[in-house]
Amino acid sequence: MSDQPAFHRRTFFKGGLAVTAAGALTTLAPAAASAAVGSGSTSGGVGARAAEPTIHTTADWGAQSPTQDPIILDHAPTYIVVHHTAGSNSTDYSLDRAYTISRSIQQLHMDNGWGDSGQQFTNSRGGHITEGRHHSLDAVQGGTQHVQGAHVANNNSTCIGIENEGIYVDVDVTEALWNSLVDLVAWIAAQYGLGTDSILGHRDFNSTECPGTVLYGRLPELRDAVGARLGARSAEPTSWPLLTPGDAGPQVRTAQTLLRDRGVNVAKDGVFTAAMAREVAKFKRANGVTQLACGAAVHRNADESGFLGSDVWPLLVSGAEREDMKGRLARIG
Ligand SMILES: [Zn+2]
Repeated sequence: MSDQPAFHRRTFFKGGLAVTAAGALTTLAPAAASAAVGSGSTSGGVGARAAEPTIHTTADWGAQSPTQDPIILDHAPTYIVVHHTAGSNSTDYSLDRAYTISRSIQQLHMDNGWGDSGQQFTNSRGGHITEGRHHSLDAVQGGTQHVQGAHVANNNSTCIGIENEGIYVDVDVTEALWNSLVDLVAWIAAQYGLGTDSILGHRDFNSTECPGTVLYGRLPELRDAVGARLGARSAEPTSWPLLTPGDAGPQVRTAQTLLRDRGVNVAKDGVFTAAMAREVAKFKRANGVTQLACGAAVHRNADESGFLGSDVWPLLVSGAEREDMKGRLARIG
């Protein structure tokens, strides 16, 4: 999870209506999800419906009332973002456990000053899906609005986030979690008419381990599964690589060359050392890159401040050259 608190008094719900700050009422699109589905509203959009999985509401798990009004945006999100909670890989697969982690995540995020759970949905290792941020379920059911969360720094107006219980740096998710993730992502994609290329991981936005190298590595499989469910498969998105201390090779060498071009004091040996990480961290601070990241730092004592990923590469490569560079990095990776 990561982000600055991002609540503003803009809209709040009342009796199924969204009331804007200006006092105008807009209906929170009733359950006529069909209006939003199959319209191909987004490039590469899906053309089929997906069954709504069982999603336990904030009331079911005993959420606290938010301390800030939600921001309800009158547009669909652009991306569905997969996270891991970076907590323990519990073997308690009960619904009670799903409720417990939902409450503890909300508490953690409210302690951060975020006003409510940062993510829109939570998916447990037992395969139980819960609503995270209040109103998220209504919004997806409506298919036209997005409840802005706090889970992807600087991208919350376009990203709907799913927190998957556990940490997937070096182990795989449970089968139950995987199956419910496919169900949930397929349903969200169908409701908003999003293509499978909209399915990304947190590290596609920020320099973080999240959602873990193992789960991140399964995103192509997730896109395939969702595409099969919905009868549409978009092109695989090309992502910036995440480089971390201990990495070595041509991608690191390329990063070093680009960093040196910008006056950063790193070697040109293709090895991501601790010294290089310190320089990357300094460079990120100097350029205002948000340092908060999903809780791997807390749970694994992993310092992600020197990680070089999706929010750093664009600082090193000019706009016109970014797509070319992404492709080149993918080929040499
Ligand atoms: Zn994350």
